[in-house]
Order: sequence, then C-alpha cells, then structure tokens
Amino acid sequence: MRPLAPLSQHPHTPKATFPVGFFLVLGLILLLFLPTIGQSKDWEVYRLGGRDYVSDENVARFYQFQRFAKEDSNRIFKHPSLVMTWRIGSQSIYVNNIKFNLSFPVVSNGDKAMISTVDLAKLVDPVVRPSYIKKPIKFDTVVIDAGHGAHDSGAKGVYGYEKNYALDMALRLEKALQQRGLKTLLTRRTDTFLTLSQRVAIANKQKDAIFISLHFNSSGSRDANGIETYALAPQGTRSTNGGSPWNSMLSGNVRDAENIALATAVHAHVVHELRPVDRGIKRARFNVLRGINKPAILFEGGFVTNKNEGRLIHDPDHRQKMAESIAAAIVKFRTAVAKR
Ligand SMILES: [Zn+2]
Repeated sequence: MRPLAPLSQHPHTPKATFPVGFFLVLGLILLLFLPTIGQSKDWEVYRLGGRDYVSDENVARFYQFQRFAKEDSNRIFKHPSLVMTWRIGSQSIYVNNIKFNLSFPVVSNGDKAMISTVDLAKLVDPVVRPSYIKKPIKFDTVVIDAGHGAHDSGAKGVYGYEKNYALDMALRLEKALQQRGLKTLLTRRTDTFLTLSQRVAIANKQKDAIFISLHFNSSGSRDANGIETYALAPQGTRSTNGGSPWNSMLSGNVRDAENIALATAVHAHVVHELRPVDRGIKRARFNVLRGINKPAILFEGGFVTNKNEGRLIHDPDHRQKMAESIAAAIVKFRTAVAKR
C-alpha cells in the first residue's frame, strides 16, 4: 500500500503543499455538488466523519454494473469491458488494472464500502462513463513539452539530468507521432529555459491540440520507482446547463473528464507495454497544467534517482520504447474520442 506522504521530491510535486486555491476550488465544487447530489434520488449520501460518501451498492446500481461482488474488504464491479476494484482502507482504486489515486480512502460502513462523493464525481464518474465527455475532442496536433532546461536541470539522477532525458524523449515522441500522421509542436527543442507561463502560452496558441508535458521523477528515497501520470485537479465549476443535478455537476467539469481520459489512455498503455511500477494516475494543480485551455497531462516517466530505473531511463532504447508507447496511446485516444 502506498504511504500517504509522498515519496517524491520532484520540484513540481505539489502534494505536500496544495495551494490555498485548491481548497477554494474544492470548496466551490462541494458547495455546488453536495446540495444537488443530496436531492438526487439516484444517490443516497452518507455523512461519515464530516465527509460525504456513497455506497458500493449505490455505485453498482447507478452505473448498472453487470456483476458486483463483495469479497472480504474487496469490492469488484464488472462491465463487459471494464473491471473496477476497491479495497476498504485503500486510498487507490483499480480500473482495468490501472491504479487511480483517491482524495480520500475507501471506508467501511456496516457491510458497505463507501467512496467519497468528491472521488465519485471527479474520478470514478469520468473514468467509468467517459461518454460523458460532452464535447468530443478533435485534435490533429500534440504540443510536447520537455520539462525544465538550461540552468533548471530538474531531477539530478544517478546517470544524468532530467532536463536532458525529457528533451530527448520529446524529440523521439515528436518523430513517433509524425510517423503516425499527427502534427507536433515542441515548447523547446534545445537546452533552453522557458518559464511555465511561456510553455502555457505556446500550448494555448495552438488550435486543435492536446498537451503533454514530459518529466522524470526524483526522490530522497533511493527505492522510489515507477511511473505516474498527472491530470489537472478539478477546475472551478462553470454554469450548469439545467440538466439533472448529477449531469449538471458533470457539465461543469467537462475538461476534467477529457484530462482524466487522456491520462488514462497514456498511463494504461505505458504500464501495459513497459511494465514499470504503476504509481497511478494522480490529480494535481501543477502550474503548467493549470493555465492550459486544452486536454493536458504531465507524464513522469520514472525515477532517475533509483539505480535500476535510472539506468533504464539512461538507455536510449528504453526512451524510444516509452516514446513509441505514448505515441500509440495518443493515437488510440484520438480514435476513441473522435467516435462520439
Ligand atoms: Zn520535472
């Protein structure tokens, strides 16, 4: 089980220091969401320890899972193409064997496993019902952002600097995407320094694009390893469209669903193909993701501070495989979102 305190000491990792804005936005979402979910007859909301939860049975019923099983502290939800598992006490859930980190652990209440309404709205729903992405994403361009640069070397690894690995993989990803018929734009092509807002400005000028920022991780713990993919934590709610309460909530978070869908596509593909340690899909308010007006993710391709993973990352063949895997995932994602 993952420790609650982050192992990572990556310069961008905000987990230990969520900005006040995060809680403000979370508060706004709760204000809008909780009264409406409370009125919806689809959901029975339980108040436990000052937080709102819904039950495993309610989730199974609402999403019409064909099979729902309780096995000790585990809960298994099955659709023909989707298996979701929860474990009481755990702060992550699995969807098709991909780990998703929750804001709050799954708790028990009698014979029920309960998930917080926050995690239900911002994570479970977009993942289980990606068709709720209201506006299909049309893109023909991928903005690739190699993290750091010049005096900002990023993580210092056993064999080299993050900034160099990130740039090399960005160039490899560019080629791999072009070979698959997509256009690309790099925020930097050389060892230069760009501020986060310069990166955001480049991405936002581009029409019909998605954004992927490439990084590698570091930790004070030499044992820390594995990949993680970040999607922006929920943005502030927009005006609702007057649909049912539950739908109104979702329409206020349209971009969240796109972000988590893109993160899922890339993360799942790389985990499946390269078999790294899966540290999960996470939600954060990185500055580089916060200002971007298009689907955006930040990919952390492993720990340069870990001896074995650092050696792998230093290997050009490995970076090539990872770039190819990300490119293939983006093509799959594009096909999937274009169908709607
Ligand atoms: Zn970085």
